[in-house]
Amino acid sequence: MSEFDFDLFVIGAGSGGVRAARMAAADGMRVAVAEERYMGGTCVNVGCVPKKLFVYASAYRESFEDAEAYGWEGQAGAHFVWPTLRDNNAKEVARLNGIYRNLLANSGVRIIDGRARITGRQQVAVGENRFTAERILVATGGWPYVPEFPGSEYVITSNEVFSLEVFPRRVLVVGGGYIAVEFAGIFAGLGAETHLSYRRDLFLRGFDKDVRTFVRDEVGKKGVHLHFSHQVKSIEKLEGGELRVTGSDGDTLDVDAVLYATGRKPNTRGLGLDKLGVVIHKDGTIGVDDNFRSSVTSIYALGDVTGGPELTPVALAEAMALVKHWRTGKTAEIDYNNIPTAVFCQPNIGTVGLSEEEARQAGVSVAIYQSTFRAMRHSVSGRDERTLMKLVVDKESDKVVGVHMVGPDAGEIIQGMAVAMKAGATKAIFDQTIGIHPTAAEEFVTMRTAVSE
Ligand code: FAD
Ligand code: NDP
Repeated sequence: MSEFDFDLFVIGAGSGGVRAARMAAADGMRVAVAEERYMGGTCVNVGCVPKKLFVYASAYRESFEDAEAYGWEGQAGAHFVWPTLRDNNAKEVARLNGIYRNLLANSGVRIIDGRARITGRQQVAVGENRFTAERILVATGGWPYVPEFPGSEYVITSNEVFSLEVFPRRVLVVGGGYIAVEFAGIFAGLGAETHLSYRRDLFLRGFDKDVRTFVRDEVGKKGVHLHFSHQVKSIEKLEGGELRVTGSDGDTLDVDAVLYATGRKPNTRGLGLDKLGVVIHKDGTIGVDDNFRSSVTSIYALGDVTGGPELTPVALAEAMALVKHWRTGKTAEIDYNNIPTAVFCQPNIGTVGLSEEEARQAGVSVAIYQSTFRAMRHSVSGRDERTLMKLVVDKESDKVVGVHMVGPDAGEIIQGMAVAMKAGATKAIFDQTIGIHPTAAEEFVTMRTAVSE
């Protein structure tokens, strides 16, 4: 009989925590999960899932407009009803919460509702209750970060945006990362006058430069007002509730809501880690070794709280690698190279591998294959939306080291490209692959001439 209440105590029932708990329980471990807020974590409640539903909602506007050219009349007058989307999203999230709870319960995991604190190397407290566990796994994710400035109390974040009482007619989105660009597209598609403020000269830092400029142009065409090299200095609430935003150059903008999407900070505050001497980096992330073990041997951490790519599939992969490590005793196997990712702006970005800039900086002798075109759907609709496809090839090995796309369904298309890259596909293999016609994706196997080297 074990001296501990549990073999594993997981803090946080988000993407990483749920997967680790279920897999550990399937391996015969006695597992508990504490969750203070919502089953399924950020992704299910205020992240990937509601975001994607809102992206779908926002895309109908153009579909209605484009339908006429295909013979469907009577769509153009369609109007958007915010409470319907908001409430249907809330229902779907509640359904998923139930599914996550059942998944855990049916795996034999004990669910403890409440905020957990670590009170000893092998001890956790939730409210008045104390539990012992051989291992503790911190999977507490992150929380939106908003810089402090006069009026910052008036802004909303991705935590609030899905459940607003009233749909804002005019919105300012601040930031230039995933969330800002995705929500600029969502708001614009749903019919709001949408502004995006970003502090440098071009958003989506870290993505391929051609992708960034292409998205800038496409998002601009959809009516998003882009304010680059712009910084918010203060926000004032006017009579009647509207917000007056003043920029550092003295410019002003009146809007109904300001959404800050300026990154996320790890959820480590108040967990009790500092008292136990767990090494925490300057940015608040928990330091872990290759096996997700912190500086205290009984305490592990994974997912957003450890930094790294803040993506659900990464948290899931880490959870599976950790449980496998416990099962086999072998070092956790996880490859952080070539992680595909999508930004669900409109049109989408899909990307895997190196940007052209990263490849050149790494000393790769590159050949660039690139194509831009109007998607077939718009030959009839007449919409001026273009698609970009780009391959970064290492000339010496002929390996494809980067695949980038901006266009409808780029997220779907790049997943397959990521498999090819994982398998080490060369440009010759791409060339030998027969296309699927007529698709946009076939362009990836028909680009024959390098546009630059
Ligand atoms: P989380 O999912 O954040 O889970 C942490 C859980 O811990 C939470 O439920 C929290 O309530 C709980 N918790 C925290 N502290 C305690 C405590 N002391 N006691 C008990 N419980 C606690 N990723 C993608 O791959 N694709 C996307 O399209 C995508 N879209 C996103 C959109 C938005 C708006 C946001 C914000 C994120 C998005 N992400 C997306 C990122 C993704 O949601 C995260 O990378 C992922 O959820 C991280 O999982 P995690 O397990 O580390 O943490
Ligand atoms: P990101 O880190 O992607 O972007 C943060 C943005 O805010 C950057 O443009 C940054 O500018 C800017 N910024 C940071 N601090 C300030 C400040 N003080 N003032 C003004 N601007 C500032 O964070 P997000 O919040 O967009 O998203 C968090 C993470 O969630 C993402 O990194 C991603 O991993 C994940 N996510 C994934 C999605 C997906 O897979 N589709 C969708 C949504 C989120 P600068 O470039 O100058 O640093």
